[in-house]
Amino acid sequence: MSEAVKETWSPVGHEYTAELGRLKEMVGACMQCGTCTASCPNGFAMDVTPRVMWRMVQFGMLDEIYASHTYWMCSACYTCTLRCPRGLPLTSSMASLKRLAMLSGKGKKDGAFYKAFMENVEAHGRVQEVGMMSNYFFKRMDNPALPFQFIPLGMKMMGKGKMHMPGGGQGAILRPMFEKARELEGLS
Ligand code: SF4
Ligand code: SF4
Repeated sequence: MSEAVKETWSPVGHEYTAELGRLKEMVGACMQCGTCTASCPNGFAMDVTPRVMWRMVQFGMLDEIYASHTYWMCSACYTCTLRCPRGLPLTSSMASLKRLAMLSGKGKKDGAFYKAFMENVEAHGRVQEVGMMSNYFFKRMDNPALPFQFIPLGMKMMGKGKMHMPGGGQGAILRPMFEKARELEGLS
């Protein structure tokens, strides 16, 4: 490794560059037909359509990409991946965008909910809404008013018996799966 590279190299920087390279490769053959956009059940909540997102990746428009919350709206349903006429791994590409946003440090706000969700599932084997939201609010202490915005939704869910309290669930039954995933991604 040259001196110049040694000075700028860091594990996070290296991981970021490698991830960006993988993403560009995954969507490089997109022909902009729009099938992914037309198929996405969460498209209504996205500020940039999947088709446009792939073009932005091809053009390296990183500022615009990190300003968008499109990939945080992806629920990994795989519909776009199944329908893309080019056979591109679009669900993986959405996951890659989430990783890049977190690695760049520009996805902390949107990523907080995602992290709280995953940590909760890993700890309890299923989502326990009360614990998950407490963790989310803790991660978003930059916005003290946030919990109040969720009160109406919380009340509605409680009224319908959809609010799971801490203590139930199946414990850490899924933890080995999470650990394996981290190992495969080189994160453990
Ligand atoms: S369906 Fe595939 S080829 Fe068509 S716009 Fe989406 S990614 Fe591109
Ligand atoms: S995998 Fe994500 S982007 Fe693709 S159709 Fe499903 S929600 Fe939309």
